[in-house]
Amino acid sequence: MGPLPYGLVEKTGLPPGVEKLKYENTEFSAGRLDYAPMQKIHTTQPLRYDERDRLTLPLDPVMTECYISGFLKRKILSTPGIGSRMLRPSSTMHRISESPGKGLGMFATKDIPAGELIVADRPLLIFPRNIATQRTGAVPLHLTMHEMQQVILNDTEVIYKASVDRMEPDRKEAFFKLANSHTDDGSGPIVGRVRTNGFGSADMMDLGEGTAGQYTIICDELSRLNHSCSPNTKHFWDMPTFCMQLRATRHIKKDEELTTTYCDLMESAADRQATLDAYQLKCDCASCANPAISDPRRRKCREWGNQNDGRVLADLDPAPLNRLLDVFKAYIAEGLEETIGYSQVVFLLMNAYAEKGDVQNMRVYAKRLSLWKHVSNGDPVDPREIETGFGALAVAEMALRLKGKLKRK
Ligand SMILES: [Zn+2]
Repeated sequence: MGPLPYGLVEKTGLPPGVEKLKYENTEFSAGRLDYAPMQKIHTTQPLRYDERDRLTLPLDPVMTECYISGFLKRKILSTPGIGSRMLRPSSTMHRISESPGKGLGMFATKDIPAGELIVADRPLLIFPRNIATQRTGAVPLHLTMHEMQQVILNDTEVIYKASVDRMEPDRKEAFFKLANSHTDDGSGPIVGRVRTNGFGSADMMDLGEGTAGQYTIICDELSRLNHSCSPNTKHFWDMPTFCMQLRATRHIKKDEELTTTYCDLMESAADRQATLDAYQLKCDCASCANPAISDPRRRKCREWGNQNDGRVLADLDPAPLNRLLDVFKAYIAEGLEETIGYSQVVFLLMNAYAEKGDVQNMRVYAKRLSLWKHVSNGDPVDPREIETGFGALAVAEMALRLKGKLKRK
């Protein structure tokens, strides 16, 4: 079908001769599980299992309206601890206020240490990313690609409205307060907001037999995060608490704007801007303002990342210390602490210092690696792992002992 249109589209609405989709929404039991894997259902989640293993409401009275497959619903409800209590930040970390030229934004109300939980947001809505019509045989064959796209946008609006109509009044109000950058391309008020504000997650996907597809997660507060090519936060989906967790990727100063990214951070400034055009955004971050300095540094990070693409940490090839430090400096200068490449260079630096017997520096990078894991998937920061460099020290000592060179202090 090609990408959906954006920007000013002249002919929107349904093409002549195509009727509005007739869509009957049936009430479904939130606990019902016997759906076909690909069958899409409107459901209110999460639920929780009580002490007698019966499905009941979650511990927090905030619910998400979902339009998801039978496969995904079963996956959600088979998650151990589903419906657990939502995490709370140790204190209020952010405010939502005007960001010059960007509408609303999220700002730090205090200094926030790297790794700290800023907010845990239970989504307003979860929808499929690739939207499709449910018309059967009713679409005239003469439609152009453009007209077909408009039919899909209109039909999706009707289907999504069935979920929005199920929302609690305060949640519905919050949804319609979200920004909409798709006002002129034929997207309806619901689809436009979903396209503007959604987040993806590798855990929220159809991966079962005969199913494939991504979902988009629409949060209230997290939707206020503006873009930066050097984002200072990272979010990840935590299934048991059914929340998007937002954490600081580096130390954030009071009143600094909290940012995420809407594009591929490894691309050049010009390529990033081409992606951001779809959001009608002109990025004014330090890297975009100085491509002559930034682009070569990002290229260095990109080449590093490509070299190690898809490899787990334990399988990485060691590299000379000066090369590692050079790449590490590029990641820091570009503010790319959220990326996988950053974790890889930090891991190798930790090992390189362990091998040299430089315990102090080894722990510096072990702490960075620990924070990266914490920010990326919620793994707790374990002081013993930092102490021992995730076992790197023991490996290095064993290697030295084998060589008969271990010098005891
Ligand atoms: Zn930028």
